[in-house]
Amino acid sequence: MSGASLVVDGLRVEFPTPGGVVRAVDGVSFALAPGERLGLVGESGSGKSTTVLALLRMIRPPGRIAAGTVRLGDRDLLALDARAMRAARFAEISLVPQGAMNALNPVLRVRDQIADVMRAHGIDDSDAAIDARIGALLESVGLAREVARLHPHQLSGGMKQRVCIAMSVALQPSVVLADEPTSALDVVVQKQVLATLATVQQRIGASIILVGHDMGLMAQFVHRLGVMYAGRLVELGPVREIFARPRHPYTRALIASLPSLARRGEFRGIPGIAPSLLAPPPGCAFHPRCAQAVERCRRDAPVDRAAGDGHRAACHLVAEDGLAPAD
Ligand code: SF4
Repeated sequence: MSGASLVVDGLRVEFPTPGGVVRAVDGVSFALAPGERLGLVGESGSGKSTTVLALLRMIRPPGRIAAGTVRLGDRDLLALDARAMRAARFAEISLVPQGAMNALNPVLRVRDQIADVMRAHGIDDSDAAIDARIGALLESVGLAREVARLHPHQLSGGMKQRVCIAMSVALQPSVVLADEPTSALDVVVQKQVLATLATVQQRIGASIILVGHDMGLMAQFVHRLGVMYAGRLVELGPVREIFARPRHPYTRALIASLPSLARRGEFRGIPGIAPSLLAPPPGCAFHPRCAQAVERCRRDAPVDRAAGDGHRAACHLVAEDGLAPAD
């Protein structure tokens, strides 16, 4: 994508285990436009959080990034030395972590945690100037300036998550990665925190990757949606298009499992269980759970096919001309 802020190509992450190598992320490719909000959804173990951690090069050994490139501007993040990568974190690409509870240092005041990030990235303003910046930053995420003086245990879950958002945008990165940032919050606070994230993102002109499993929340927040299954990105497209015309049977199942007023009280899950990544099914990894599987699905892994404007899906039933078969 020309003018993209982030281009991920062929990303593969592997974890050696006593039983063999697990491919947690397997050939993931996508581009992110400046200012765009991209969602990544999938069941747990689908590779969405691992993808985000790999973009930051935060995969814990013995896990490793086995292949791929992650271009941010004119540099491949995967080719940077450790020092340059440390400098890029927060300043160019940052993370709003999954558990704000654990992400903040319990013994440091909010002010000192944010100041540490600024100082570590070469901001050598006076203490007063840093305090003024932190105050403005806290206000920008809907918190009072006085929150700077508090310790994490004095904050509610929603406030902690707002502090994490403030830290992640303190250096105005061009890409913010948000890994299930609202999963521990109640529904009302979830929406408020996401609205804050959107406001701040627009203010600094960053693009966002939001990882989650709540399709309803995604529908309200992102411009484009990527669906992951067994380490692969099986469908990617504009969020309205995906909801209106999902091409991959797994995406259809995810959408069908959303609660609806028409089916009050009826919960429609996806039959079967997520596959073992140690010994994934041959062919299409979704075939044991797919009601539309044909013989070829058990044999050949499907490749990405265009499924409409800016829309692609990896399923044998998406025809070469981009038109999906009838439901
Ligand atoms: Fe189902 Fe086959 Fe498509 Fe896989 S390739 S999602 S098994 S129809």
